[in-house]
Amino acid sequence: MSRHFNYLAIGAGSGGIAGANRAAQRGASAAVIEAKAVGGTCVNVGCVPKKVMWYGAHIAEALKYSPDYGFDVTQNSFNWSTLVKNREAYIQRIHASYQKGFDANGVTLIQGFARFVDAHTVEVNGERITADHITIATGGRPSRPQIPGSEHGIDSDGFFALTTQPKKALVIGAGYIAVEIAGVLHALGTDTHLLVRKDRPLRNFDSDITDMLLERMAQDKLNLHSHTEVSRVEKTAAGTLTVYCSSGSVFNDVDCLIWAIGREPATDKLNLVSAGVQTDEQGFIRTDKYQNTNVKGIYAVGDITGEAQLTPVAVKAARLLAERLFNPAMPDAHMDYSLIPTVVFSHPPIGTIGLTEAEAVAQYGAANVKVYRSNFAAMYNAITAHRALSRFKLVCAGADEKVVGLHGIGEGMDEVLQGFAVAIKMGATKADFDNTVALHPTSAEEFVTLR
Ligand code: FAD
Ligand code: NDP
Repeated sequence: MSRHFNYLAIGAGSGGIAGANRAAQRGASAAVIEAKAVGGTCVNVGCVPKKVMWYGAHIAEALKYSPDYGFDVTQNSFNWSTLVKNREAYIQRIHASYQKGFDANGVTLIQGFARFVDAHTVEVNGERITADHITIATGGRPSRPQIPGSEHGIDSDGFFALTTQPKKALVIGAGYIAVEIAGVLHALGTDTHLLVRKDRPLRNFDSDITDMLLERMAQDKLNLHSHTEVSRVEKTAAGTLTVYCSSGSVFNDVDCLIWAIGREPATDKLNLVSAGVQTDEQGFIRTDKYQNTNVKGIYAVGDITGEAQLTPVAVKAARLLAERLFNPAMPDAHMDYSLIPTVVFSHPPIGTIGLTEAEAVAQYGAANVKVYRSNFAAMYNAITAHRALSRFKLVCAGADEKVVGLHGIGEGMDEVLQGFAVAIKMGATKADFDNTVALHPTSAEEFVTLR
């Protein structure tokens, strides 16, 4: 058996789904091949379950604030498995909505693991499928360290598979995932320890923002262990873990160790050699600005390209590729990878776009950079015993004070960022921010009243 399509996506994650749907909407016969669950990382073991858990943590925090708002609430228990059950039911509904979308657009979903046979052919479940255009959108998987006993730990996929709440968890890593998972576990009541091998998590973020993250973690009593690298893990007869670090620290009675030390590309089993597609030394498929690989007719989008590993980036790149291929009105369509806004769902959330202060100084020179910042107590917790500070910051460059970076940490920052990202993408200056009437009372108004 064999089938032919105009457009074939390998991987039904954020990029694969978006590209196949858009190609079909533009008249192409389109198919997408998926080895696991439709929706990929984001829907099944990424953004979606993470955000649900973050909302759960948010409710735990609201309960903490509630007495100061006059509520006499007794929290009897927290049932982790109820949250997980409802989260997974929600994900099932998302699967169903994807299938509806495929049906409406006429996209064929093929379940199975794809491998290249040649530059126009892939094999799945013994069937050969050919296509005029093939997009590799196979994403990535969590990395594991090569140290004795690392197999006793789980990764972010394993975190979402937990059906009971860990009592004592060690989260290892310093990126988005480590910060987000540690924050959720801590807020939900697990004895949580975040171990970073350098001085702080999120080292590439603006240091004013991470300074405040450290303050908020300390205030919330989340155990952050800096300069702490795990060297060995042992499982005890009781089933708990003992975790040894090169600094000499030892953690006993750990019932959950989570590796969150980065992700690696899923290119190794695709048989790319048969198609002649090249990868870099880490396995990422580098493309030109049109998502072209080194082989004509084969493209790559999303995490596999080594660009910003974010769902909207994969989605946009894939849609624009499909427009370029099948919409005669958009022959030059391609993704603009500059000024990508991003949020870390920490406690409180961090939102950022553009250059950090250090990057702006390196790019424009200190004399040409002006920074505006504000520390303030968001009204939400200002009236409570848990009063805590937010910090918002603008980085401006040049005589016209163009806003080249906007950074914030505070309640609501996750929702604040999107609109400001539009302004910054349009080239807004500090004067444009100042000319905008504030929305009161909000945290967002700080950005248009900075002095
Ligand atoms: P994926 O979504 O990973 O999809 C790839 C698909 O390809 C998978 O379904 C896989 O099974 C399939 N596949 C692989 N090989 C084959 C093969 N040979 N044959 C068939 N199928 C194959 N991003 C955000 O923007 N916001 C967030 O809040 C956010 N939170 C995250 C939280 C976590 C814990 C993680 C891990 C990631 C998070 N991300 C977030 C990142 C986001 O999930 C990814 O950037 C996004 O999913 C990338 O999409 P993709 O299409 O490149 O790959
Ligand atoms: P990241 O690449 O963001 O961070 C991993 C960090 O872990 C490294 O930067 C490094 O920091 C540290 N690290 C690396 N190796 C080790 C090691 N052996 N031991 C201890 N620490 C180590 O990876 P994540 O896994 O957190 O996330 C992957 C990507 O997924 C993110 O970059 C992001 O693009 C995306 N994502 C997005 C989210 C969102 O939008 N909210 C949420 C989750 C993921 P250092 O050098 O400082 O030690």
